Amino acid sequence: MSKLVIVGTVAFDAIETPFGKTDKILGGAATYIGLSASNFDVDSAVVSVVGGDFPKEYLDLLSNKNVNIDGIEIVEDGKTFFWSGKYHNDMNSRDTLVTELNVLEHFNPVVPDVYKEADVVMLGNLHPMVQQGVLDQMNKKPKLAILDTMNFWMDIALDDLHAVIKNVDVITINDEEARQLTGEYSLVVAARKIHEMGPKYVVIKKGEHGALLFNDGHMFYAPALPLEEVFDPTGAGDTFAGGFAGYLAKTEDYSFENMKNAVIYGSTLASFCVEKFGTERMQSLSKGDIEHRLKDFKKLTQFNIELS
Ligand code: AMP
Repeated sequence: MSKLVIVGTVAFDAIETPFGKTDKILGGAATYIGLSASNFDVDSAVVSVVGGDFPKEYLDLLSNKNVNIDGIEIVEDGKTFFWSGKYHNDMNSRDTLVTELNVLEHFNPVVPDVYKEADVVMLGNLHPMVQQGVLDQMNKKPKLAILDTMNFWMDIALDDLHAVIKNVDVITINDEEARQLTGEYSLVVAARKIHEMGPKYVVIKKGEHGALLFNDGHMFYAPALPLEEVFDPTGAGDTFAGGFAGYLAKTEDYSFENMKNAVIYGSTLASFCVEKFGTERMQSLSKGDIEHRLKDFKKLTQFNIELS
């Protein structure tokens, strides 16, 4: 079974959307990535840090889904990373209200020995030096290194971010962040500029407008499934990344053609994430739910035009 190493935040989130508001609930990039990747038969492990204030049942939630948590350090006298965000009425944009790094400020990641040979490494949203620290601990170059990041790290650690971007094969980033990283409005030009920074494959996530995959002049587009109910988009990007990484780790085929399927899996999983607040929907997801939705996805995107 393929091994997948995931690094990213394991966090408390407080979220406000037009449909309601939550107090501190379970969140974090690695949490969403881990839950999403757990839908594939891969041996995945999360590398992260939490404080003594983090409930054990949240960690159990990951291990009950067969996500290894040996690499999640618990700093007993520290506080867990906290993020709070408020969505605008269209749910496509949000304001970050609070980012408290807390235990993340002095975090040195430790990849458990058995995962140092992993084929796929998913560097989720976290300080770029921590992302690089995980890559440095791998015993061999992973077959695929994927990086996700956000504007926060571009604002405070751009040089470190450029340094780690150079070392990955794939970057998954949202449209606004791709524009910030490159200074380009056109996403096609932005993707080309990101290629020049290192990654051979660039995935640009466009929220409810789907995702674009770029590689060496080739382009693929997958829409997002139009949904009746969207309650909370938090974690959709990470859930996409977890599905994308999980599918590629499971199939062990890292070609552009197979990455198209990985984008479809990522989009499908993200479509569940937004249906409830926080991680709630991802906790109860079944293989049948996913298959059913993949069928809807296929119907949505298939057409038959005879071309001469
Ligand atoms: P997404 O909606 O996919 O962009 O991810 C939202 C998740 O990212 C939330 O659960 C937050 O806890 C986490 N998050 C927010 N800001 C940061 C940050 N600066 N670094 C790492 N994770 C973050």
